[in-house]
Amino acid sequence: MTLLVATQFAVGNDGPVENVILGVHGGLGESPGVLTPEEEKSVIAGIEKALRAGHTVLTKKQGGSLDAVEAAIRILEDDPNFNAGKGAVFTSDGRNELDASIMDGRDRKAGAVAGVTNVKNPISAARAVMEKTKHVLLVSKGAEEFAAKAGLDIVDPAYFRTEKRWKDLEERRKKEREQPQSRLDPSGFLPDEPATRHWSTVGAVALDTAGNLAAGTSTGGMTYKRYGRVGDSPIIGAGTFADNATCAVSCTGHGEFFIRWQVASDISAQIEYKGVDVRKAVDTVINGKLKPVQGEGAAIVLDRKGRFASATNSDSLWRGWITADGKVVVKLYPE
Ligand code: ASP
Repeated sequence: MTLLVATQFAVGNDGPVENVILGVHGGLGESPGVLTPEEEKSVIAGIEKALRAGHTVLTKKQGGSLDAVEAAIRILEDDPNFNAGKGAVFTSDGRNELDASIMDGRDRKAGAVAGVTNVKNPISAARAVMEKTKHVLLVSKGAEEFAAKAGLDIVDPAYFRTEKRWKDLEERRKKEREQPQSRLDPSGFLPDEPATRHWSTVGAVALDTAGNLAAGTSTGGMTYKRYGRVGDSPIIGAGTFADNATCAVSCTGHGEFFIRWQVASDISAQIEYKGVDVRKAVDTVINGKLKPVQGEGAAIVLDRKGRFASATNSDSLWRGWITADGKVVVKLYPE
């Protein structure tokens, strides 16, 4: 059963929802009213497919939370509706540079890749970095060579291109020509420009039957980002965090703020030091800390008891969750 809810902006929080084993997000998608009903259906179907794949891993296959996170994110990376893998946004010079990270709540092992241009599923490269190297983060050529040697699928960079994202870039380039540099916000983005404001980064948080948490995030970053720019998604503690003692977190939004405010680890710290529940923790950071400084974004959180929450300070957050008994909820906008 799928419960579809697509309502207008009011208060951007969910939860705590009980008995959740997997939550995913598809980033700050389009604002309410932008997508056609058909397009909304396609996004919802993608999120549901990712949730069901992860659920199968966790239940029928008795897989671990890392397996579920990887399986769910791979599906979203392959779906052009999302800004990760195929369908990634473009840099200012017209490339797709992909970032991803994954973290194991058992022991805080983590792996990440940044700036890769030919790895079909960056989340699997992040996992390989975690499991097959002594490092946490590999970038660009080194990460690509490592992924190829690890036996992962390598594609021509043109594989990631979609016309929609290319159009976003062209619109953004036009704005850039028309507006003086002084109109840019301090991080180099136009604060109210739709093609840069609405990203669809993907992420997942999972809890397995052994009680282990895991989190992962994958993205093409932000439209018109500078060549070589890396956001929060591959930065452990900023875009992704997992610790069995507290929770698993995946973030999305304006990465520079998420790095500076260490959002994912701060959400965990709220639980660790203040003993608050997942909803209070995510709300405190996303709405209490980021909103006043205009750090636009959102996060999903799952704790070791299977309590899920999300918060967004934007006018959208594509997300969904699935309970152990297979009940799926997908929502595109805050309520
Ligand atoms: N956080 C990502 C970045 O800044 C973008 C996003 O979440 O949409 O690269």
